[in-house]
Amino acid sequence: MEKQGNIRIASENMMPIIKKWLYSEKDIFLREIVANASDAITKLKKLEGLGEAEKGEDYKITVKTNAKEKTLTVEDNGIGMTQEEVERYITQIAFSGAEDFVKKYEKTNGDGIIGHFGLGFYSAYMVSENIEIFTKSYRDGEKGVHWVSDGNSTYTIGDADIKTRGTKIVMHLAPEEKEFTDEKVIKKLLAKYCSFMPYPIYLNPKATDKELKPVNTTAPLYLKQPADCTEEEYQNFYRDTFHDFNAPLFWIHLNMEYPFRLKGILYFPKIKKNVDLEPGQVKLYCEQVFVANNIKEVIPEFLMLLNGIIDCPDIPLNVSRSFLQNDATVQKISRYITKKVADKLTELFNFDRKKYENCWQDLSTFVKYGCLKDDDFFEKVKDIIIFKNIEGEYRPLTKYFGESITEEDAKKGKEPKAVYYASDENKQAQYIAMFREAGLDAIICDEYIDPHFISYIEYQNPTSVRFLRIDAEVDSALKDGGDDGEDKELETLFTDCLKNKKVRVKTAKLKNINVPAIVNVPEFLRRMTEMNSFYRMGDDMHDVTLIVNTANAAVGALKNAEGDTRQTAVEQIYYLALMSYKALEPDELQAFTANTSVLLEKYLQK
Ligand code: ADP
Repeated sequence: MEKQGNIRIASENMMPIIKKWLYSEKDIFLREIVANASDAITKLKKLEGLGEAEKGEDYKITVKTNAKEKTLTVEDNGIGMTQEEVERYITQIAFSGAEDFVKKYEKTNGDGIIGHFGLGFYSAYMVSENIEIFTKSYRDGEKGVHWVSDGNSTYTIGDADIKTRGTKIVMHLAPEEKEFTDEKVIKKLLAKYCSFMPYPIYLNPKATDKELKPVNTTAPLYLKQPADCTEEEYQNFYRDTFHDFNAPLFWIHLNMEYPFRLKGILYFPKIKKNVDLEPGQVKLYCEQVFVANNIKEVIPEFLMLLNGIIDCPDIPLNVSRSFLQNDATVQKISRYITKKVADKLTELFNFDRKKYENCWQDLSTFVKYGCLKDDDFFEKVKDIIIFKNIEGEYRPLTKYFGESITEEDAKKGKEPKAVYYASDENKQAQYIAMFREAGLDAIICDEYIDPHFISYIEYQNPTSVRFLRIDAEVDSALKDGGDDGEDKELETLFTDCLKNKKVRVKTAKLKNINVPAIVNVPEFLRRMTEMNSFYRMGDDMHDVTLIVNTANAAVGALKNAEGDTRQTAVEQIYYLALMSYKALEPDELQAFTANTSVLLEKYLQK
C-alpha cells in the first residue's frame, strides 16, 4: 500500500537558500550520504554487541554511478529503517534539521559553518531532482520500505519487496549535475571525504572482480597506538595521504583521550630555506569523516606549514567559525597541539642533536615563524633555537645573551650585550675575516625571516640582548690597544677630500693592518633604510661612517701626499671600503676605475 504525505516543514522555500549558500561546496552531499551509511553500520554493530541483532555479513558501502539513468546510488548493509522510522527520521527530522541549519547559517552571516555538519540527508537535494530510499530494518518481520520525494513539499512512501537488511539511496541527478555520474569525479570525492571511513567503500564493483578493492583505508595509521607503528608505515601513510614524495623530516603522533579525544599525525615536511612559504595541509577529521582543510581556529596558524591529520570528535562542528575561536575545548586543543610540537622539537634537541642540527635548515623558518605568531610557542622553544656562527657551528641563541642590565645601568647609557650577526657571508666576507682574526663571534642570519625574528627577540629580551650587524660598529676587540688611536688630523684630511660624499669620518687603530678603512652603518639607521626600501620609499644610504685604519701603512703615507695624489688616494680608500659593504653604483665604479688607472700610472712611472 502506498500513501502520500506532506513534508511538515515549509521546505519549498529552503531549497533555493541551501542551494545558494552551499553551491560552491555542494559535493559535500556525498560525504553526508556515505557518512549516514557508515553510521547505519556502526549502529547495527552496536546492537550486535548487545546481542540485539544477528551478526551480519561483511559490512560494506557500495557506491554506483549510472550515466544512462543519471543516477548515483549509495547502498549499505547497516541497520535499515522501518516505515515508521523513515517517516520520523527522514521526513520529519531530516527536514526540520535542514531548517535549523538554515537558521543557524543565516545568523552567521556567511561566516561559514565548519564542515556543514548536520545538513545530512537533505544536502543530496543540492544535486538531485528526486531521491528514492529503499530500506529494510534489521528487525525481524519488518517489511521493506520505498520512499520517494523531489525534496519539495510532498513525498510518497510504501512497501517494497526487499530481501536484505540495509538502505539504498538512489539520487536522480538534476540535468546540470550529471558530472556526478562520472566514476572519476566520484572517486575523487570519495578520496577527499571518505578516505578513512571505518567500513570498506566499493565504487562500481563488477561481478567479475575476484578481489574487490575498497577506495578507502578503514583503519588509518593515525588510529593505531604510536608504539605499534613502524617508521615505514609512517612514511607510507605520509606519501599516500599527501602525495609528497619527499620524505618528511619527522612526525608527531598525537593520541589523547582525556580531557578531549584527539588522534592524529603531524608531519614536518622539508621547508626550503628562503623559498616562499608554501602552506601545508592539516586535514581535520571527525570520527574518520573529513571535515575541512586548514581550519585555523583549531590548528594554530603557524602549524599550517605542516602536513597532518587531526581527528577530533570533540570539536563542535556545526557551529560558526567565530564561535569556534572562543570555544574552550577548541582553545585547549590548539594549545595541546602547540605543546606537543614544542615537546617533540625539545626531545630532538636534547636527545638527537645531530639530527636536530641536520634538520634545522628545514625547520628554522617554521620555528621562527611559530615564535612570531605565538608567544606561548616561543616560551616553549626559546632555548632550542639555534644559529650557525661564522665558524660554522650551531649554538643556541640564548647562549649569546648577556646578563640583564638594570634600569640604573640603562640610565647611565649602558646597553644590553651586543650579538653580532652577518646577513650575507659573501658580501660581508671582509668583516667576517676581521672578526675571525680578532677571535670575535658572530651568527649567520641569512633567512628572510631573520630580520623580523631578531627584532622580535630584542623586543622579548630588551635588557639582555641587542643585535648588531657585523658592519654596524667597530667592536673594541677589533681595535689594537682598546679605544685609543684616534687621529684628528687624519679625520680632517679625509673629511675635506670626501666633502661631496654622504659620509662621516672616524679613525681607529685596527688589529688588521691590511685594511685601509671600513664602512660602518649604524644598526638602527640601516634597519630603517631597509624598511623604507622594502616599502619602496627610496633606499638612500644615510649615515655611512668611514672608519680609517691608522694602523694601515698606506693611510700612514697619506699625510705626506699632496694635491691630486692625496685626493685620488683618499677617494680610492673610500671606494675600497664601500666595496666591502655593498656593490658600487655605476658612477662610483667609473670613478674607481679612473682613479685606479691614475694611481697605477704614477706607481709605474716611479
Ligand atoms: P543526521 O545524520 O545528522 O542525523 P540526516 O538527515 O543525515 O541527519 O539523517 C537523519 C536520520 O535518518 C539519521 O539520523 C538516521 O536515523 C536516518 N538515516 C539516514 N540515512 C540512513 C541510512 N543509510 N541507514 C539508516 N538510517 C539512516
